[in-house]
Amino acid sequence: MDRHRIPRTKELEFGGVLGTAVLIFLMPATVFCLLLTCRTEQASLFNLPLPLPSLRSLWNPQDFAVVLAWIGLQAVLSVLPMGKLTEGIALRDKSRLQYRINGSHAMGLSALLVGAGLAAGLRLSYIYDHFLQLAFSASLVAFGLSVLLYLKALLAPETALAPGGNSGNPIYDFFMGHELNPRLGGFDLKFFCELRPGLLGWALINMAMLVKETELRGSPSLAMILVNAFQLLYVVDAFWHEEAVLTTMDITHDGFGFMLAFGDLAWVPFLYSLQAYFLVTHPQQLSLPMAGGIILLNGMGYSIFRSANSQKNTFRRNPANPNVAGLRTIPTATGRRLLVSGWWGFVRHPNYLGDLIMAFAWSLPCGLTHILPYFYILYFTALLVHREARDERQCLRKYGLAWQEYCRRVPYRIFPYLY
Ligand code: NDP
Repeated sequence: MDRHRIPRTKELEFGGVLGTAVLIFLMPATVFCLLLTCRTEQASLFNLPLPLPSLRSLWNPQDFAVVLAWIGLQAVLSVLPMGKLTEGIALRDKSRLQYRINGSHAMGLSALLVGAGLAAGLRLSYIYDHFLQLAFSASLVAFGLSVLLYLKALLAPETALAPGGNSGNPIYDFFMGHELNPRLGGFDLKFFCELRPGLLGWALINMAMLVKETELRGSPSLAMILVNAFQLLYVVDAFWHEEAVLTTMDITHDGFGFMLAFGDLAWVPFLYSLQAYFLVTHPQQLSLPMAGGIILLNGMGYSIFRSANSQKNTFRRNPANPNVAGLRTIPTATGRRLLVSGWWGFVRHPNYLGDLIMAFAWSLPCGLTHILPYFYILYFTALLVHREARDERQCLRKYGLAWQEYCRRVPYRIFPYLY
């Protein structure tokens, strides 16, 4: 028997086959319910039934072409010989895949191209006017891609399958992703989708909302400027530290299937921009002291998020680095050590804590009258609590007693003294 074969996935996540079957419908339904609610005057989650548009009004070949052109442009930028080539973590057969890290270049070039388009008369507010149709097209692309990925995985060697998406049940594996790192030649489909079209698309959509608000009311509001600035900082940070994506669970453990394809191409760009979308039709007055407080909160969240992530990444890359060499650690049987002081001695997921504080700061400019703009922090809390539990299970399997010792010494998972 090939010792590099990926064993069958025994512990099913997300409620198993039934749970993932529901999520395949629930994820797109959530996107459209929230976008439709956002368009109504009350923008209330309790104002049912929603005015449902016909499927025909959602389908627009031109918008489908816009989505494909955006993804195509990002694909071209991602293969340009700029930036460095780096290796991912060792796979089961000890081989390593190569990745081109040129996200910052792609972001700069995208900004130049959008700027040139605007100078040539491109109307960015088209994105607001066709938002539902664009979201529908992006969802179709994500569905189509997921089907192709699943079919491709059926032809892949068993050693290429994902540890988390190899249950043998087609629905479960379609959702979780059957193949770990599907590639077309040297083009890595999952690595490309993780950041490029969706995250840059999110920043572009936010900017389109700002332009639309300016068209409607003469100038952008302070609330809209803050939401744009905070979220742009987050996107720029992700591209600046693009290499760190290679060690995330998404790349190392999860396959590439519906969960990530829909998440990357539809959920992130169209739902993470919900606050900016909301502000176009529900303007908010923000006093300067209030804005100052929100900026401070976002700054605090960002500095925890960034320094915690950097501390761990530096430690994993070079434990002798003077910035981390003085931190206390626990040895593990694998030879790797676990940090027990610094940020990672404060709570077990300080990076999630910082991320959640920022998420709160992104919602506050939308005022306190509606729940809708707080969807992001509610969903994100659920996502990170669930992600944390998944990570804990994997770390316990990896590090055994050393992990138990870490949990004893650092008892709180995300929120100090609470959780
Ligand atoms: P993490 O960066 O939190 O990594 C978890 C891994 O870190 C563990 O598996 C373990 O791996 C290592 N580790 C855990 N504890 C220690 C310790 N004490 N000392 C040293 N190493 C330790 O994982 P994520 O991929 O979940 O998160 C990365 C970032 O992305 C976070 O900031 C998160 O908030 C963000 N994120 C954002 C999302 C969004 O939609 N905006 C979605 C998901 C994540 P090992 O020991 O093998 O190195």
